[in-house]
Amino acid sequence: MLTPTATIADIRRKIQARERISSDEALWLWREASDGDMRGLASQVRARFHSPTACTYMLMRIINYTNVCVAQCDYCAFYKLPGQEGGYVLSHEQVFAKLDELLALGGDLAGFNGGFNPHLPLDYYCDLFRAIRERYGERLEFYALTIAEFMYLADHANLDYAAAAERFRRAGVRWITGGGSEILTEDFRRRHSKFKYTVAEYFAAQRALVDAGLRTSATMVIGFDETIEERIEHLERTRDFQDQLLTSKHPEALASFLCWTFKPYFTQLGGIEITTNEYLRHLALSRIYLDNIPRIRTSVLTQNERALEGLLYGADDFDLPIEDEVTQLAGATISLNFDKMLEAARKLGFEPTYRHVALDWDSPA
Ligand code: SF4
Repeated sequence: MLTPTATIADIRRKIQARERISSDEALWLWREASDGDMRGLASQVRARFHSPTACTYMLMRIINYTNVCVAQCDYCAFYKLPGQEGGYVLSHEQVFAKLDELLALGGDLAGFNGGFNPHLPLDYYCDLFRAIRERYGERLEFYALTIAEFMYLADHANLDYAAAAERFRRAGVRWITGGGSEILTEDFRRRHSKFKYTVAEYFAAQRALVDAGLRTSATMVIGFDETIEERIEHLERTRDFQDQLLTSKHPEALASFLCWTFKPYFTQLGGIEITTNEYLRHLALSRIYLDNIPRIRTSVLTQNERALEGLLYGADDFDLPIEDEVTQLAGATISLNFDKMLEAARKLGFEPTYRHVALDWDSPA
């Protein structure tokens, strides 16, 4: 049990001295600090990595290549069980059409996210990713799957994580994101997604990916029924994992941290969305706590234009998404008015510049 013993003066002094805050202090900040203090402290940590008015963005789409899934997470409105009406798998041609549309709109990043589909062999994925690399070369980059899907595929193919990572690497894959983390505590996973791997397994798979030379990221979703202690445990595990990678001088350390919010509509879990203010305070806490991850991203997908206020709370990067069926089916709405979004960032005092993930491959974050 965490015991809050800090004061704002202690924490201010630590941030100024570039010292790390403890989990106790994070809990104290969450409970006691004003919004102004959270913004101020997060901006100070942000300034260690980025110019105060700089921010970056990408135009991207999530491609939900299949909605068939056996994991049965109670917070998911997207999945269909095998054999259930409405289940689908996209063909290469359907995927290419989505990528062509993305390029036509000026975007160059796709993220693949589907389900634990027992009817899809590893070759489906390797063939698809190889075909994308051959067809588009460096014109776009793609996040191939989330770690949770990667784990399922490896198990399904009777491969250990290292061998599966190598198969993907040879198929032209460079990135597998930290998606599927939601809240990284064993208890949360037992409550809501008991078929989706333990925390220890999650980090073992992520470590195997970076050891194989692939790149990855940290993610988090808040707004279920998790406690503040569980949120801080998630941040602590993430910071510790990044420490381990950096200590072993791993060039493929976590490239970024992205947190978004649970959309409860049409899910078994249900509930009420958290407020944007709560999200912004959590972004600030993440920036302050995760002092070893340079890029903190704010979620336009789940917070729309108000996500840009996250730039005042320590974030430095955002996506402009054009599609993500998983969150859209649970209540997320997407705007294609990109100029309006960029103008909103400028009104807050930031100058957004486009970030090409393909370039990150040559010069890691
Ligand atoms: S969240 Fe992902 S793993 Fe869980 S049921 Fe939905 S598609 Fe499956």
